[in-house]
Amino acid sequence: MIPISEPISLYVHIPFCKKKCRYCSFYSEPAGKHDTKRFVKALIAELEMYDFQRAVRTVYIGGGSPTSLGGSLLLSLIKSINLHCRTASEFTVEVNPGQVDLQLLKKLRKLKVNRLSIGAQSFNQPELDFLGRGHSPEDIEKAVVYAKKAGFENIGLDLIFAIPGAREDYWVRSLRSAFYLGPQHISVYSLTYEPGSVLYDDRQAGRLKPVDEETDRGQYEFAIEELARAGFIQYEISNFARGGFTCRHNLAYWKNKPYIGIGPAAASSYRNERKENIDDIERYIEAIENGRLPSAGVQSLSPLEVACETAVLDLRCMEGIDLEQFISQTGFDARQLFSKSIDRLYCQSLIEIKNGCLSLTRKAFPIADSVLSDFSSPD
Ligand code: SF4
Repeated sequence: MIPISEPISLYVHIPFCKKKCRYCSFYSEPAGKHDTKRFVKALIAELEMYDFQRAVRTVYIGGGSPTSLGGSLLLSLIKSINLHCRTASEFTVEVNPGQVDLQLLKKLRKLKVNRLSIGAQSFNQPELDFLGRGHSPEDIEKAVVYAKKAGFENIGLDLIFAIPGAREDYWVRSLRSAFYLGPQHISVYSLTYEPGSVLYDDRQAGRLKPVDEETDRGQYEFAIEELARAGFIQYEISNFARGGFTCRHNLAYWKNKPYIGIGPAAASSYRNERKENIDDIERYIEAIENGRLPSAGVQSLSPLEVACETAVLDLRCMEGIDLEQFISQTGFDARQLFSKSIDRLYCQSLIEIKNGCLSLTRKAFPIADSVLSDFSSPD
């Protein structure tokens, strides 16, 4: 058994989806192709390889689509997690609209799941069809209504913008429909074209034209304004929450805190080591059944690499880098490590220093990836 004594977040990866969305390059396969019962047994066996004691603060079951496991397998997995992770105070399950009913949600709630992340993506059927989502806007509405009836008081919705066609009224409708349903958390992501996805191939072959940068930026900025007007506080580049409803699990990632991932392709970060699990369902199960850790490799990071990683992650959050805390967390002074980048970005009004924290300015949000790349290595 591997003893885990530092506070951690636990991520459980379910690599199954009903069908592949056209923008997705995550590792997932159709549930029907595999023995899901054997898979869940392996997942629980991997969980039991750890001695979590009182270390687990948050649990997140994601994927893939955890709901594509079917109710009874998902519930038995959650029961095992509860046995091993009694100290978790935030327990999130990702659900796909169209794959949940009131009965299942009530059972999840009874098993101490207290947060749902619902992959809405759009409230416009033509956009859902374009993205290859297997649900309708009505399914999203039903999922939220059922979740509330089941007693969930912490519900998150994910939305995608910059979808080709990019009709302004569509984006307005998606945001307003989300507000109308009253979630506590909303994430907004610009559509990306990841190698390995159908949309990537379509773009490469000239079968579709991505939206231009200006429209992409305009939709993001519109979302920031609308979300603020609707009472959501932006706490990360893509994430907005009502007061007290930030996702603690994801915040742990952005604060570069330790986490353990179980399941195929899941990543872990513990004591400056990055570990990745085998990204093949059958090989993963075989490793576990033979009593081996399903590890695909371990990478040790130097203190300097950890400092750079911490800076990039911190800057994703509105709070930014707490300069004093950064020194105690990493042993490095960010002002010295990134002095040239800080000077240059400051002159361009892309970063600011307030109350001892170095953070991105609003001007930098739409180009955050390129600004953050300046902190991925020391000057
Ligand atoms: S986007 Fe989510 S639901 Fe769609 S294929 Fe990818 S993991 Fe599955």
